[in-house]
Amino acid sequence: MKFSIKKMVSSLREYGRRYDDSHNYTCDVCGREVFGGERICERCRAALPYNVGIICPLCGRREKEEGICLTCKQKPVGVKKARSVFNHEGDAARLVVRFKRGEEYLGRTLGDELYALCNREFEGIDAIVAIPMTESAIKKRGFNQAEVLAERLGERWGVPVIAPVIKAHATRPQKFLGRRDREANLKGSFHVKDRKAVGGKSILIVDDTMTTGATVSEFADVLRRAGAKELYAATVTSVEERSPLPRQK
Ligand SMILES: [Zn+2]
Ligand SMILES: [Zn+2]
Repeated sequence: MKFSIKKMVSSLREYGRRYDDSHNYTCDVCGREVFGGERICERCRAALPYNVGIICPLCGRREKEEGICLTCKQKPVGVKKARSVFNHEGDAARLVVRFKRGEEYLGRTLGDELYALCNREFEGIDAIVAIPMTESAIKKRGFNQAEVLAERLGERWGVPVIAPVIKAHATRPQKFLGRRDREANLKGSFHVKDRKAVGGKSILIVDDTMTTGATVSEFADVLRRAGAKELYAATVTSVEERSPLPRQK
């Protein structure tokens, strides 16, 4: 195993948060002690923005009115159904950001939340695939957050996690791009190295956050071309759908 300071700091932090002789932890959100093996206290859990209101039936993002959202009407998200545990706001967004900034142990809590969602929303999944990162991006962060989530989900769910695709070159940061620009930015960056693992399978794609759905959509296309039978997606958070129509000038 490669030496990683980030990994070491993360596991030291995790160790420091535990009580040696019991199974009590401190809340991953507020830091108060919680009992009975829980990682989030009742108060924080009640305040988390679970994505349970009106959502788009395709991309699963929160929206104002029932029905397929405007983004999906313009271009469907490329999977049969995508769902997320939380709307990307408040403590849920902060948990994901902390996780991505190096607090790898949070992958356990977030992976468990993902498991509760997937167990409820999906069935007949043959394999889980995390959205891959480039080697250099993994080196920088110390881990691939989607992979950490997928591993925890697979372990809880009893579904195998496979890695049939690599991400070959760095793309520009997606943050400031719309879905169409995001797609152009991603084109050609994913390469299938194991078609056999994908062929005829129902696959669940896992990532930390769905913003416009461009990454999931592009990745789903790659898996579909490699012979996947059915595609689904699950993320910890997703960004609320707002009209993608350009504002009139
Ligand atoms: Zn708490
Ligand atoms: Zn949608």
